[in-house]
Amino acid sequence: MNRKQIIAGNWKMHKTLQEAEETVATLANMLSNSKTEAEVFIAAPFPFLFSLISRFGNTHMQFGAQNISEHAKGAYTGEVSAAMLRSVDAFFTLVGHSERRQYFQETDHKINEKIKQALAEKLEVILCCGETLEMRKTGKHFDVVVAQLQNALQDIRAEQMQYIHIAYEPVWAIGTGETASPDQAQEMHACIRALLHNIFGGQVAMNTRILYGGSVKPENAGELFSMPDIDGGLIGGASLQAGDLMKIIDSSPHSTH
Ligand code: PEP
Repeated sequence: MNRKQIIAGNWKMHKTLQEAEETVATLANMLSNSKTEAEVFIAAPFPFLFSLISRFGNTHMQFGAQNISEHAKGAYTGEVSAAMLRSVDAFFTLVGHSERRQYFQETDHKINEKIKQALAEKLEVILCCGETLEMRKTGKHFDVVVAQLQNALQDIRAEQMQYIHIAYEPVWAIGTGETASPDQAQEMHACIRALLHNIFGGQVAMNTRILYGGSVKPENAGELFSMPDIDGGLIGGASLQAGDLMKIIDSSPHSTH
């Protein structure tokens, strides 16, 4: 198996441009002294992307968006299209983050359309999935995550899966300080990999990076990232400080699973 880990920061609606540039400059400096083999992604707010990519696009980091329109173009005030992201050399976009599902009524169908828009413009995708506490308590968590992914990946072809990474983020662990245990995360990641095997076959299942997200911190990252089916993390709060994010990046094992 040869899956390079991905450590992706999700800055949500935080920072000014000046603060973002300072954080990225500090991180770029730290990364230049690091031996990490992980790929480092930063999902920045839309207005910062052009500047960050122009200034730091040739460092160890890849910059992308936190969301994307499900439409190609047109009268959709306030939306940002895949072609717009491509035109500023964005590398990827998050799709289906639980905050988008919860506060902006994103359905699996809409998420599927967003993925198709991103792929049409050659943007990589981090597809987020995950259950609420209620769903876990009632034992529905595996079914819920499987359904989210089956719907989001409708009509996606096996060869397109090299551009899609999956982030398992239990909603009860996002921004709460509560993390899934390494065993809880591992069993869901194994379930997701089995699903990928069923839909796309063994090669895709073996090669797809499945990230864990939900209160990952420097203190718990190493144990999570060493689990066999966890291929890195999607990091919210702890990605806002370059020092914390760098510790998390350095927790990623040098050798692949
Ligand atoms: C996230 O927003 O994707 C996330 C995992 O947030 P946090 O790390 O703050 O829980």
